[in-house]
Amino acid sequence: MATTDTVLRPDHASRRRHFIFTEEHDQLRESIGSFVEKELQPHAQEWEESTFPNWVFQRMGELGFLGLSYPEEYGGQGGDYYCNLVLAEEMTKSNSGGLAMGVAVHTDMATPPIFLFGTEEQRQRYLVPAIKGEKISCLGITEPDAGSDVAGTKTRAVRDGDEYVINGAKTFITNAPRADFCVLVTKTDPDARHDGITLFIVDIRDSEGKEVEGFSVSRKLEKMGMHASDTGELSFQDVRVPAENLLGQEGKGFYHISWELQGERLVAAIGCVSGAERVFDRTLEYAKEREAFGRPIGKFQAIRHKFAEMSVKIEAAKQMVYATAWRFANGEYPVREITQAKLYASRIIEEVADDCIQIHGGYGYMKEYEVERAYRDSRLNRIGAGTDEVMLEVIGRSYGL
Ligand SMILES: Cc1cc2nc3c(=O)[nH]c(=O)nc-3n(C[C@H](O)[C@H](O)[C@H](O)COP(=O)(O)OP(=O)(O)OC[C@H]3O[C@@H](n4cnc5c(N)ncnc54)[C@H](O)[C@@H]3O)c2cc1C
Repeated sequence: MATTDTVLRPDHASRRRHFIFTEEHDQLRESIGSFVEKELQPHAQEWEESTFPNWVFQRMGELGFLGLSYPEEYGGQGGDYYCNLVLAEEMTKSNSGGLAMGVAVHTDMATPPIFLFGTEEQRQRYLVPAIKGEKISCLGITEPDAGSDVAGTKTRAVRDGDEYVINGAKTFITNAPRADFCVLVTKTDPDARHDGITLFIVDIRDSEGKEVEGFSVSRKLEKMGMHASDTGELSFQDVRVPAENLLGQEGKGFYHISWELQGERLVAAIGCVSGAERVFDRTLEYAKEREAFGRPIGKFQAIRHKFAEMSVKIEAAKQMVYATAWRFANGEYPVREITQAKLYASRIIEEVADDCIQIHGGYGYMKEYEVERAYRDSRLNRIGAGTDEVMLEVIGRSYGL
């Protein structure tokens, strides 16, 4: 109870753990963070030129980081959903959006549908080696003529005896130039829209890394940012896939992939928040050191207010994501909230990175400073995993409009 002589000191620098996390999450955070800082971050610049090497998957598999929330019977760590958030947050310490994205595609986009909708045999053949880092995965939704409009997918899968024959093209597919298998969105009924979509797990390379017959990466794409990731345009010409590789139910692929996109969006959102925090922290150090007119630039009100504005955005986005993750982890399917969090977090990281460049002045424009890369990498978030406009549509329609 306060008395008249009690002095209450504001706790500005509070670093109290958020209530969704436990001490075990802190330990996990510590171990992923130190791995990322020691083994990945030193290569960030080099991998901008060459893309990151495959050993990253093998090493992360050895350390158990590729299956944090999968059951132990599949080689996972048996953790809860929040462990995936911890991974996405700590991966931003690599200073490489492209690397974080390549890993997230594997852990939070391509493998979850195999766990949820796959048969036991599919889990053993694809999920188990993916968790070990022995097989790399990619997720093939987008096509040259169908991105936001997934129901407009043209890649065809036609049944032929015990097999399906696949023909079509995919584009902008992360990890495709290196992946062993692809979770592929196809059309099995060309006359139906949503109800004609079916997922397959397609082996795209053999054990020696050679492309299977009929499959090729027709183009490795050059990008504005995310340079450490590899992105490909894929061609399927009469690729034969055993019928047992159909994932989930025939004709229900649209609903399966819609579920997958929720996890993808939530992880993308926390990656944005954590990335924004990182670039904020680095810029804060800079603003305390860099001097102009005889004082640190952070002491100018114009700059101080930029930090204040950024901190509010980051905190708001973080609370949105954590609260939504809490719903998700407790069995809800909170599509509206996930979409709101993804939209907002994607916007704020771009705004924060832009302000951080401004605070760095000319140095912010130079490649040797982390903010330049963060700015380029951040731009993707308003497009990938669903564009801003599509997010607004989903949110608006959720109100019955
Ligand atoms: C670096 C990178 C990595 C990617 N990785 C993958 C991956 O691994 N796997 C994968 O499948 N895809 C991947 N994508 C693709 C990404 O998900 C798509 O680019 C995105 O969904 C948008 O599709 P689109 O590019 O075809 O744009 P379009 O759908 O053609 O949209 C073009 C414009 O029209 C707007 N628009 C479309 N529909 C509507 C509407 N109903 N209302 C209002 N506006 C609308 C869009 O918002 C956008 O502004 C990646 C993309 C990039 C750039």
